[in-house]
Amino acid sequence: METILEDLLDVAIQLGASDARVIASSDIQVEDDLAAFCNGDPPCEQYAKAPSCPPHVSGPSGFRIWQKESTHAIVVKIDIPSSIMFSEQQREVMQLLHEIVAISELRAKEKGFTHARGFAGGSCKNIWCLSHVTCNVLSNAGKCRNPDKARPSMSGFGINVKKLMQSAGWNSEKAVKNPHPDADPMSWVAGLILL
Ligand code: SF4
Repeated sequence: METILEDLLDVAIQLGASDARVIASSDIQVEDDLAAFCNGDPPCEQYAKAPSCPPHVSGPSGFRIWQKESTHAIVVKIDIPSSIMFSEQQREVMQLLHEIVAISELRAKEKGFTHARGFAGGSCKNIWCLSHVTCNVLSNAGKCRNPDKARPSMSGFGINVKKLMQSAGWNSEKAVKNPHPDADPMSWVAGLILL
């Protein structure tokens, strides 16, 4: 088991993660209030636009069921300068995050974690299908255009991402001082593979 987990961490790093760590699934904190923000006042602009976002996902209650059936999870992060995080390049970073999580999930399944589930950040409609008017699945036009890349957002399941970062042993502050003088403060995006 330990070797398989180490292999999966290597997969995430090779795909482009800045770091990846194994945590106990029981350490993932899920909060109903966080999931409620998706349809808050105002609601998220991406609310209901993809099957991977509320109200089309099972939310915190569904996640808690999967969590009880799982013992380990992998947390991944990508460190990026804040200037990129808050620029048009953000979409490329989010695409990379989705790919790391999706491919890691598929590798975990190949290695025996048949119920592995990957979670990323942001709406796949915004990240992968921005140029399309509607989601192919929700418009009943066919299958997902990106089944091997797009994964649901942690937000819709109420996953506390800051606490997730802390469980992995990482700094959860969004603007971490860059050790290089005159360089941008650093930020991060994170994803999760429930094994
Ligand atoms: S078709 Fe696009 S918006 Fe719909 S689930 Fe797939 S990636 Fe998401």
